[in-house]
Amino acid sequence: MNFSSKILEEAVNQVSQLPGIGKRTALRLVLHLMRQPEQNTDLLSDALLKMRHDLQFCKKCHNVSDTDLCEICASNSRDETIVCVVEDIRDVMAIENTSQYRGLYHVLGGKISPMDGVGPQDLKVGSLVRRVKEDGVKEIIFALSPTIEGDTTNFYIFKQLDGLQINTSTIARGIAVGDELEFADEVTLGRSILHRVPYENSLKN
Ligand SMILES: [Zn+2]
Repeated sequence: MNFSSKILEEAVNQVSQLPGIGKRTALRLVLHLMRQPEQNTDLLSDALLKMRHDLQFCKKCHNVSDTDLCEICASNSRDETIVCVVEDIRDVMAIENTSQYRGLYHVLGGKISPMDGVGPQDLKVGSLVRRVKEDGVKEIIFALSPTIEGDTTNFYIFKQLDGLQINTSTIARGIAVGDELEFADEVTLGRSILHRVPYENSLKN
């Protein structure tokens, strides 16, 4: 692609670094911004800079947050004795959208996947065990995707919790095996949480 402007070329190069965006699409997006009022590009740049520099992770549950504690952990209308374990923040969003869950979360930051080089040490498992020991948590709900990696991760955590006074449950498999939580419809996902089953029962299947 030949550009008559280095500035334009650099903008297109940067936008095309995003996943799923080729050079042609990048050029279309950049030209779109050029036609818009300058202020629109300022707002976009500011939002991206803030997201990168100011966004934090909740020190308790590892959800994204603007402050030390996320809104969910800081709320006094949530049930602090129940913790729902999820892979990433998209799952928190999906479950929150169901309005069926009033407990807290724990965001692992992924799932155990030797193929992708992700081991237990790469996930926030230690802080989950600490929460169970120190924060009066009475129930852990495993809400990971029903895939081999999700099941492996559930089982690893279940073993880490061995000997602690804690109920473990798993979301009902209304969600088809292999589906990602974030794509499950809200009604199905909400029902899966309400109709959760003791984790040990799920091991017998
Ligand atoms: Zn939190």
